[in-house]
Amino acid sequence: MVLNITCIPGDGIGPEIVAQAKKVLDKVGEKYGHEMKYTDILMGGASIDACGEPLTDEAIETAKAADAVLMGSIGGNTSTSPWYKLPPEKRPEAGLLKIRKALNLFANLRPAYLYQELAAACPLKEEISKAGFDMLIMRELTGGLYFGERKTIEENGELKAVDTLTYSESEIRRIAIKGFEIARKRRKKVTSVDKANVLDSSRLWRKVVNEVALDYPDVTVEHMLVDNCAMQLVKDPAQFDVILTENMFGDILSDEASMVTGSIGMLSSASLNDSKFGLYEPSHGSAPDIAGQNIANPIATILSAAMMLRYSFDLDKEADAIEGAVRQVLKDGYRTIDIYSEGMNKVSCSEMGDLLCDRI
Ligand code: NAD
Repeated sequence: MVLNITCIPGDGIGPEIVAQAKKVLDKVGEKYGHEMKYTDILMGGASIDACGEPLTDEAIETAKAADAVLMGSIGGNTSTSPWYKLPPEKRPEAGLLKIRKALNLFANLRPAYLYQELAAACPLKEEISKAGFDMLIMRELTGGLYFGERKTIEENGELKAVDTLTYSESEIRRIAIKGFEIARKRRKKVTSVDKANVLDSSRLWRKVVNEVALDYPDVTVEHMLVDNCAMQLVKDPAQFDVILTENMFGDILSDEASMVTGSIGMLSSASLNDSKFGLYEPSHGSAPDIAGQNIANPIATILSAAMMLRYSFDLDKEADAIEGAVRQVLKDGYRTIDIYSEGMNKVSCSEMGDLLCDRI
């Protein structure tokens, strides 16, 4: 199979971690008989410096012509970088918003997986963390409170602010279908999270999710109120497989779920549209404080590449090989600085890439 991948190395540690992801993908291609074709585009600060804007229309066209996009990270030091003296629409992050919109990426996926070798970094009590957890938060990305009509008005001599939370049936249905499809590739359980005891938008959410569930009789569905879900994530995270939720609830819950793993350099993510197309990137930023030193942890980006193989190319066996190599490298005691603990072998960013290739 030929895989056409647009890569966005980006800024800070981005080029270093993307280079390792390409190395691992090439190894997968060699082993399983696939050809990886990469086309790099500029985005963020790198594009501002070269083209005067955070993402050009030509770069978007290149991304659209690919099967999937693999990104490092963008942005610089927000206090010192000249990029942050520019107006907001010219700053590095505007490139990310522009590409998400241009590619119609409405479903955001963030896995939260606890590696037993890194359990010491998990802030939960040992009696909870020892059960482990492996969940995926699927967040709707283009609707809800963040995109509804908003205004601030003066009424009876005081200011009053209004934000509107709107969802249509079709917006809910397309993300629910994605959620159930992805649950089928995992442990076949969807927990749909809402606030149906209060909000009309949540009652519609629940109704549409139940309708979609009828087409997936092999997937178990349950509904949970968002306040309860926030508690359950720290009390019993092992119960979750796919958490399906709207934009703002997902924003908050996905950060909570990530943080219970305790290791930012390990967290991958994906944003999908209604075809197989997706943009895959680590959950962390461009870490300008450690850029150019070959010490960043490339694993989040490499696991994002595994998600790309699984969700954009249906190459589950190949994705398993990458995830298995990550587990093995941790078992073998290799750590980049961010996940290092005494007695382990400290390795650089490129050494971690090599060690993973050896285990593919
Ligand atoms: P950050 O995630 O870049 O860094 C936070 C801390 O974690 C730093 O100490 C950093 O060294 C460390 N860290 C992050 N990733 C690491 C890795 N792979 N290996 C080892 N250590 C790692 O967050 P920040 O410092 O708040 O933001 C820096 C820049 O990144 C900002 O410009 C921000 O806007 C941008 N950012 C971009 C994205 C994106 O591209 N999607 C996401 C978040 C932040």
